[in-house]
Amino acid sequence: MAGQNETAPERHRVVVIGSGFGGLFTTKALRRDDVEVTVVAKTTHHLFQPLLYQVATGILSEGSIAPPTREVLAKQKNASVLLGEVTDIDLEKKTVTSVVLGRPTVSEYDSLVVAAGASQSYFGNDHFAEFAPGMKSIDDALELRGRIFGAFEMAEIGASRGDNVDHLLTFVVVGAGPTGVEMAGQIAELAHRTLKNDFRHINPDDARVILVDAAPQVLPPFGAKLGAEAKKELEKAGVEVMLGAMVTDLDERGLTVKFKDGETKRIDSVAKIWAAGVQASSLSKTLAEQSGATLDRAGRIGVNPDLTLPGHPEVFVVGDMIALNNLPGVAQVAIQGGKYTAKTIKARLDNKAPLEPFKYFDKGSMAIISRFNAVVMMGKFRLTGFIAWLAWLFLHLLYITGFKGRLTALLHWAISFLGRGRSERTTTVQQIFARQALQRLEHGAADLVSEPGKYDSQRKAAAEAEVARREELETWAAEEARLSDANERGKQQKS
Ligand SMILES: Cc1cc2nc3c(=O)[nH]c(=O)nc-3n(C[C@H](O)[C@H](O)[C@H](O)COP(=O)(O)OP(=O)(O)OC[C@H]3O[C@@H](n4cnc5c(N)ncnc54)[C@H](O)[C@@H]3O)c2cc1C
Repeated sequence: MAGQNETAPERHRVVVIGSGFGGLFTTKALRRDDVEVTVVAKTTHHLFQPLLYQVATGILSEGSIAPPTREVLAKQKNASVLLGEVTDIDLEKKTVTSVVLGRPTVSEYDSLVVAAGASQSYFGNDHFAEFAPGMKSIDDALELRGRIFGAFEMAEIGASRGDNVDHLLTFVVVGAGPTGVEMAGQIAELAHRTLKNDFRHINPDDARVILVDAAPQVLPPFGAKLGAEAKKELEKAGVEVMLGAMVTDLDERGLTVKFKDGETKRIDSVAKIWAAGVQASSLSKTLAEQSGATLDRAGRIGVNPDLTLPGHPEVFVVGDMIALNNLPGVAQVAIQGGKYTAKTIKARLDNKAPLEPFKYFDKGSMAIISRFNAVVMMGKFRLTGFIAWLAWLFLHLLYITGFKGRLTALLHWAISFLGRGRSERTTTVQQIFARQALQRLEHGAADLVSEPGKYDSQRKAAAEAEVARREELETWAAEEARLSDANERGKQQKS
């Protein structure tokens, strides 16, 4: 009988690295196709990075911008999710190695989509990271939240003792791109509006919020006019904008900036935020070493016009990791790149002609400056103020993944923008210090979790002890019950 001994042909295996915009949108776009998708990512969530600053400043909870990838893809039967940090890609063997707590998993692929994004760049001063966290992950945002609200708390204690607390009430944001602008604007609003009545020994309104950048203007990608407008609005909101100021040194108590004319200035500040510079995932280096593809200064990899890796048509790179036609590192590049990649994979499986080269459709850029105030650039249109803020609100709601996330965000925005409150001000010592403690372990988190079998002998001894302990507890419980049933409690014992 035909086909009796034949096994069903294996489905085309697509491994997607990353559950960010690029990874998730590639996967979703493959939902109707005859493929088996495995999403390998080092976090269990999809992260809406553009709203991280609202988690850091207590407006939104981390859950509302980071739904579990597993839940997002629960109904997509051809997709599975694998937690793990990809440490190696073997282009020859077509395998991806990912690691969780020191334990590796190897996944084989027919097509590979690498969408591992970018991390913070300290321009060679990586030691700044300890004192000025960046804002790329939930860990970053929660650590910053702890540091910002913690600085006000420490200032309150210091002021009650009569100490000078200026360094605790000075907040410095490095980098005047959209993230830095939004962050500075929100810290200012926190100090001048939200915390107004909450302290007894300090006046949060006295806090200084300084936005520092080596560039001569705010928001360079928005053009000179919108940049100038944004600067004016930031200053109105209480942010000191320090331009042409390059950070040359940074430690736990402050930072030094140097101006073009050689003048240097020391700013005493405990809570500092790094929002300058990005560096593509180191996986681009892994790919470049094996394929000969080029890397630019930010570590982004040169890809073909169809987003494939030179010499490897089965490997696609999307989003923040690519250097192609000066495309910006924005969510839409990753989303559109992901959808395009899915279409290419499908066209190949259907034996159709290759698609036209990837073309990015610019849907515009926006940054919120303060409550009801934003700047928006859409093609030739430039918007500022309330209308721009409404456009910001609408688009962000549209792109937050899931109904739950949208609803929660909307409620929290009502609390913060219509009212004065911030519902997510909880911080813990662990959020501020645990990551640093983990980094000091020789093998990171892997040192906290033993290899299987390591504690077998202790387990056996514990099991034996458990039998004796159980007998003891049973005897105790029986005696307790007898005392109650026989109504003997509180009565004099017969000798
Ligand atoms: C604070 C901030 C604000 C922003 N604001 C805006 C904005 O307003 N508008 C806009 O358009 N863009 C904004 N962006 C940029 C936008 O978020 C990025 O362009 C977009 O996220 C890029 O998508 P991606 O898929 O390439 O990478 P990401 O979304 O960063 O996803 C990368 C994924 O790869 C995973 N990963 C990384 N390394 C590994 C590894 N080794 N192994 C396994 N998994 C790995 C990560 O966990 C993550 O899931 C902002 C970015 C930040 C950080």
